[in-house]
Amino acid sequence: MKPLVAITGASSGIGKAAAEIFSRNGHPLLLMARRLEKIIALDLPDSICKKVDVTDFDTIHGAVQSARKKFGPVDCMINNAGIMKLGTPWHQEINEWQAMIDVNMMGVLNGIRSVLDGMIERNTGTIINVSSLAGRKTFQKHAVYCATKFGVHAFSEVIREEVSPYNVRVITIAPGAVETELITHTTSEKLQQDWWDGLGGILKPEDVARTILFAYQQPQSVCLREILVNPTGQSG
Ligand code: NDP
Repeated sequence: MKPLVAITGASSGIGKAAAEIFSRNGHPLLLMARRLEKIIALDLPDSICKKVDVTDFDTIHGAVQSARKKFGPVDCMINNAGIMKLGTPWHQEINEWQAMIDVNMMGVLNGIRSVLDGMIERNTGTIINVSSLAGRKTFQKHAVYCATKFGVHAFSEVIREEVSPYNVRVITIAPGAVETELITHTTSEKLQQDWWDGLGGILKPEDVARTILFAYQQPQSVCLREILVNPTGQSG
């Protein structure tokens, strides 16, 4: 059997598409999300579904440990769970900023930490962090979202440097606009509409999932540090 792949935020969008493509490629899966019923409904073979809030380290670590008993250690951890709540800084509720910091930064760090010791011990492994083009470029109304995604690029690169002697890869995938549920978490309907109106094109979740699989399928001796992938029509 192929090695175990773990995915956070597997209940919709990019995470769901990643679950499906990795499954088609024969990998057993640890699927994590808060909406357990959605990951169970995917009904993928050799998969373990766990209700996980990525902001809670103990839960994500527990899920990794329990999947290990059935399928062996996680060889690839895809830290994909994320939220985007757009807003102007003088209107936005402070708890929306906190939620983005907790999920987009602490959630990814928790995912990394839950597998890193084992990867270093085994001298192999791959961590794929789903960031965003908003982690490389700034966009108005995205102040805190951009901050969290710039943060993902920063800590991913530092950790990559630190684990490279242990043959562990850290890969950051930074998509442009993708057709998922992400924008629906923005409170302001006007900002949601502005987001749609400003698009020069949109990726399918499957486009990003294919990119993630491509990065993982390179030989362990090849690490694609960062991949920026956007719809061809997206100019900004
Ligand atoms: P979706 O909203 O469709 O999916 C987000 C996923 O994250 C869901 O499965 C959700 O599951 C999960 N999630 C959210 N909060 C938590 C939490 N606290 N604990 C566990 N899981 C959580 O959006 P996308 O597929 O677009 O988002 C995936 C990633 O891609 C995000 O990191 C996003 O920032 C990034 N991205 C998306 C872009 C886009 O245009 N769509 C562009 C660039 C990057 P559940 O609610 O069941 O817990």
